[in-house]
Amino acid sequence: MQDSITIGSISAKPGEKKSGFIEFWDNSLIASKFPVVVINGSENGPKIAVNAGLHPFEYAGMEAAIRLSKTIDPKDVKGAIIIIPIANVAGFLKTIETVHPVDNINLNRVFPGIPTGSMSQILAYTLFNEVVLKVNYLLDLHGGELETCHPYMLVPHKNQETFEAGKRMANVYGPDYLWELPDSLPEVGWSSSGLLITQASLRGIPAIVIEAGQNARIEESHAQFHLNGISNVLKQLQIIKGEPTRHGNPKIFKKMVFVTSTASGMFYPVAKEGMEVARDEPLAEVRDFFGNPLTTIRANAGGILLHVSHSPPIRNGGVIAMIGELP
Ligand SMILES: [Zn+2]
Repeated sequence: MQDSITIGSISAKPGEKKSGFIEFWDNSLIASKFPVVVINGSENGPKIAVNAGLHPFEYAGMEAAIRLSKTIDPKDVKGAIIIIPIANVAGFLKTIETVHPVDNINLNRVFPGIPTGSMSQILAYTLFNEVVLKVNYLLDLHGGELETCHPYMLVPHKNQETFEAGKRMANVYGPDYLWELPDSLPEVGWSSSGLLITQASLRGIPAIVIEAGQNARIEESHAQFHLNGISNVLKQLQIIKGEPTRHGNPKIFKKMVFVTSTASGMFYPVAKEGMEVARDEPLAEVRDFFGNPLTTIRANAGGILLHVSHSPPIRNGGVIAMIGELP
């Protein structure tokens, strides 16, 4: 018999769907909260968390999570599905890119969080302890800030067991490409240690990020893409009935290369996400505020172009694209 599930003040008995907010406060007593939907199955089985909106502009994943929460009937569930439709509500309402507006921190860099830290650290701590540590699997939905993004997944390789289980979820989710996450990319000062999926994986919970979305809007094809992918994972884990509609074998990037701008000004992309690019191929042009060309930004590696910025403002040193290098 499945047990009751309690997340904060939300408690769902077997066969119940309950929703509400998890509330918390920072040290200045500024209140914040995030929504949670608990779908507790009537029969025993694995528990999965579906998280969206760590990054406020990544709407396709949020929309998919909301639709999932409306359409799943707990009577059809073995185990449980815990959905966080929008983790960073304050950032969402403020329409701010990437960070939490109270402390300007990228929430997906500070897991597992600090209970006495700043707002993002407290939010991360609450989400990690109240939700993630209570489940057996985690899907973290991303994609679609001020950029176009070719769908791909991130899988941490902290131990073989969670890596293999992560790859099994990735095989049915959908994208053709998968990035096996390194500990760090020293050339751009990037580390994967604070990512939610990394910390979940270190605690033995198979966890993947799926990137699909674009230009800070809900592109229907991307919302559907996430929804189909989640449904396939739920079927694969036998949380809901049915066979996954896809059994892929994504190509694995061993290396991700960040492309940065060498000038500040107006940004004009010439390359498109999903393209295979060669080293030195032009990706974008930067012009000054009088329309004069300042520089052409070229690919610093060959591979698949995964993200391309689509927002006119660009500053010197800012990331304009990411290229996945195939082995
Ligand atoms: Zn993101």
